[in-house]
Amino acid sequence: MWLAILLSATAMTVIVGVRYLIVSGAFAAATRARHPGLYTGLDTQMRREILWSVASAAIYGVPAGIVAWGWDNRGWTLVYTDVHAYPLWYLPVSVLLFLFAHDTWFYWTHRWMHRPKPFKLAHALHHASRPPTAWAAMAFHPIEAITGAVVIPLLVFLIPIHVGALGLVLTIMTVMGVTNHMGWEIFPRFMWRGALGGWLITASHHQRHHEQYGCNYGLYFRVWDRLCGTDNGLGDFAKAHAKAHARHGAKIASGDGRRHGMGDAGGGGAGHAA
Ligand SMILES: [Zn+2]
Ligand SMILES: [Zn+2]
Repeated sequence: MWLAILLSATAMTVIVGVRYLIVSGAFAAATRARHPGLYTGLDTQMRREILWSVASAAIYGVPAGIVAWGWDNRGWTLVYTDVHAYPLWYLPVSVLLFLFAHDTWFYWTHRWMHRPKPFKLAHALHHASRPPTAWAAMAFHPIEAITGAVVIPLLVFLIPIHVGALGLVLTIMTVMGVTNHMGWEIFPRFMWRGALGGWLITASHHQRHHEQYGCNYGLYFRVWDRLCGTDNGLGDFAKAHAKAHARHGAKIASGDGRRHGMGDAGGGGAGHAA
């Protein structure tokens, strides 16, 4: 039995890790295509983001693997496979319930982690990415990773959800985690401007959190930020993009870009700190 639990935890760690590498890798490639030069000079930071994210994968994988084993072998959790076990309207409702519960947990733990002690101890690591990239999605200190890793494995004991709807929740979680740190908006304008954008969190909102720290703590929805007066509006990527495009233009103008690449290795960090 212990071997089966260990295998399940290992398998889940590999799944979470590979999922991260594929999704972050895809969006990092999309960034190179859409905004070449945006991640120039951030190689050392991105390596660090990947290392911490892979470590987080194990922390996420272990509780998920144990619960998955219990679901399969002991009938644990309220995850169901018969789509008619609950009315069909409950499918989207269960997804929203999961997202809202996760968002609530994230808002309050994240806000707590911005208090001086927990910030220094744990959350500063996530904010060491300046500016964050698509690889920063799971770059968390182990303490912070634990607070994130317990959410879904606990919620499946509290809120009934179809296994497919749970898959959708995990997909949204992964895609939003990556795109919120990517440095540009991939979603259509109505999702971050206008009536709907007033309640949804995408990259422009989380960007401002990484710029200003004491605001915009939410994960999917702006509900808690707006209720608690911590919503500071949307960040603006225009300046960073203009810089990136200028850098990329200079790189092309310098021929093969080798000389420019070497300059970046030395000066990129200072440029980004400004
Ligand atoms: Zn933060
Ligand atoms: Zn972040």
